[in-house]
Amino acid sequence: MNRIDLKQLIEAVADTIAAHADELTALDQAIGDGDHGLNMKRGFEAVRADADGLAAKPLPEALKAIGTKLVMTVGGASGPLFGTLFMSLGKDLPAEPGRADLIGAFGKAIDAVAARGKSQAGQKTMLDVLYAVQAALVAGEGPADIATAADAAAQSTAPMKAIRGRASFLGERSVGHVDPGARSSALIVRAVAESLE
Ligand code: ADP
Ligand code: MG
Ligand code: MG
Repeated sequence: MNRIDLKQLIEAVADTIAAHADELTALDQAIGDGDHGLNMKRGFEAVRADADGLAAKPLPEALKAIGTKLVMTVGGASGPLFGTLFMSLGKDLPAEPGRADLIGAFGKAIDAVAARGKSQAGQKTMLDVLYAVQAALVAGEGPADIATAADAAAQSTAPMKAIRGRASFLGERSVGHVDPGARSSALIVRAVAESLE
C-alpha cells in the first residue's frame, strides 16, 4: 500500500459524499425517511473542516477521531454505525498498515458494526458492501477491483428485502431499491481506493 495522504483522502471522501448527497437522499426517500444524504454530508463536512488537525495525527488516532466526529454529527442509525467502523479501524490498525493489517482490522471493524446494528450480511444494509470489500481484500484484489466489488455489492441490495433499519418497516415494499447506506459505503470505498491507487 502506498503511504497514506490522509488530508487528500478526507477531501476525496467528503467530495464524493457531497457530490452524491441528492442521490443518497433519493434512495432514502424510497425506503426510509429521506435524510441519508444530508446526514452523511453533515458528517463528512465536519470531518473535512478538521482535515488539517486529523492529518497531523498518526493514522490510528486520526481514524478514532473521525469515528467520534461521525457519531456526533451524522446522526440517525448510520452515524453510530459508520462511527463504530472508523473507531474500530483506529483501534486495530498500525500507523503504517500493510494488506494483512488491513484485513485483520477491517474484519474486526465489520464485526463491531454488525454487533452494534445487531445485523448480518443479506439484510440490505451497509454491511453487504463491507463484507464484499473484505472478501475482495482477502482475495488479494487491487484498489480498482475492490471499488468495483463495493459498487456491485451496493447494487446487489436492490432485490433484497430489508431486515434491519427503517427500510425493514416496508417489508416486501423495500424490494427493488438500492439501500442508501450500502450506496454511501460503496462511494466511500471507491474514494479511498482511488486515493490509494
Ligand atoms: P436513519 O435510518 O436513522 O434515518 P440514515 O438514513 O442515515 O439513518 O441511514 C440509513 C442506513 O443505515 C441504511 O440504509 C442502512 O444501510 C444502515 N442501517 C440502518 N440500520 C442498520 C443496522 N441495524 N445494521 C446495519 N446497517 C444499518
Ligand atoms: Mg434515513
Ligand atoms: Mg433519519
